[in-house]
Amino acid sequence: MTLTSDDRTHLWHPFTQQQGWAKEEPLVIERADGTDLIGTDGRRYIDGVSSLWCNVHGHRHPRIDAAVRDQLDRVAHSTMLGLTHEPGVELARRLTEIAPEGLTRVFYSDSGSTATEIALKMAFQYHQQTGSPERTRFVCLDNAYHGDTVGSVSVGGIDLFHSMYRPLLFDAARVAPGDLAAMERELVRGDIAAVIVEPLVQGAAGILVQPEGYLRGVRELCDRYRTLLICDEVATGFGRTGTMFACEQEGVAPDLMCLAKGITGGYMPLGATLATERIYEGFLGRFEEFRTFFHGHTYTGNPLACAAAIASLDVFRDEHVIDAVQPKISLLEELLGLVECLAPVREVRRRGLMVGIELHEQPLHLRMGHRVTLEARSRGAIVRPLGDVVVLMPPLAISEDDLTRLVQVTAEAIEAAVVAAALPAAA
Ligand code: PMP
Repeated sequence: MTLTSDDRTHLWHPFTQQQGWAKEEPLVIERADGTDLIGTDGRRYIDGVSSLWCNVHGHRHPRIDAAVRDQLDRVAHSTMLGLTHEPGVELARRLTEIAPEGLTRVFYSDSGSTATEIALKMAFQYHQQTGSPERTRFVCLDNAYHGDTVGSVSVGGIDLFHSMYRPLLFDAARVAPGDLAAMERELVRGDIAAVIVEPLVQGAAGILVQPEGYLRGVRELCDRYRTLLICDEVATGFGRTGTMFACEQEGVAPDLMCLAKGITGGYMPLGATLATERIYEGFLGRFEEFRTFFHGHTYTGNPLACAAAIASLDVFRDEHVIDAVQPKISLLEELLGLVECLAPVREVRRRGLMVGIELHEQPLHLRMGHRVTLEARSRGAIVRPLGDVVVLMPPLAISEDDLTRLVQVTAEAIEAAVVAAALPAAA
């Protein structure tokens, strides 16, 4: 049996129509080097979406590799329920040092979905235990994406992913991003536990960029109506938008902040929900009062993942990663001129190193976004579409040469995909 036929027989891939998958030759990744992935075909591919938006410093970074190996020699996993461990404690301290002001407590989990799920449950329980039990609902944004678990889907707003599950979900109010008046109309009712937003950029919606000042306005409204603000920095965190956290750009400190993806440099599954001391104190009490936060996953705060995350923060500090990314952001802005002028391109949106290239609407069956992916792959770059939006999200460590090549390949791939789609055999 070949790897490919075993894959077709036994695997079920995420967000994938398996009927189409089975007809295509999959690219099998064998190893990686810096910001390149290397296939079993021996070819190198630029990791243009940071292995689903999480890789930061490139693959096989010597310091992160060494930190994981070192931790492996001590213990790979030990629970955080009733015990503690050094990498978990150290990482918590380091995260609170770099987080927006007031976020003093770290609750670990193992993905972005769990990090948001936890923030929602914390916000709900906090109000139940601090004299506002009527605050049971959430406000989220149209086209929001906070993960795939039932709670995080409840505050999602992407119909394609979420509408199927509506009967399973709790009720949440959806407002248009940018519309502060609409948000105020929800908050004034007094039953909102928290507002949850992706700060500055809605990633999975297709890199939708919010108007300047919006996040600050949301923070002010939350303060005025005494509701909590949850910032989901799962995609935007760890330098993606040009600052360590997107919230910083609007001088906003949320009450709860969700982290995952880039937290380990893109090495290991790890989620973290950061909370203020005020929220934390809402859960304190005598044992028999049952104010405990009854939540915790088996791999919560996994020591290997925490060791990778600490090493990643060391790299941020010692390699001045945030400073080093600024010229790359300017270069990317310039390079996108190559794409903006293409006939099939409707709009290019960007914030930091997050790019969404929206193509003009095409018949669904043409799968233009997917075609662009295949064309880019044959030219040596991995990109991934969200519908007809081609996303570029390179690692912060990408070289200027590779960044240039990534954008050139994407431009060529868009043109080639349109030509291929027009051929009678392909239609
Ligand atoms: N929140 C945001 C903003 C995300 O972009 C994502 C994933 N793309 C998630 C949550 C979910 O993270 P995970 O896939 O790790 O569950």
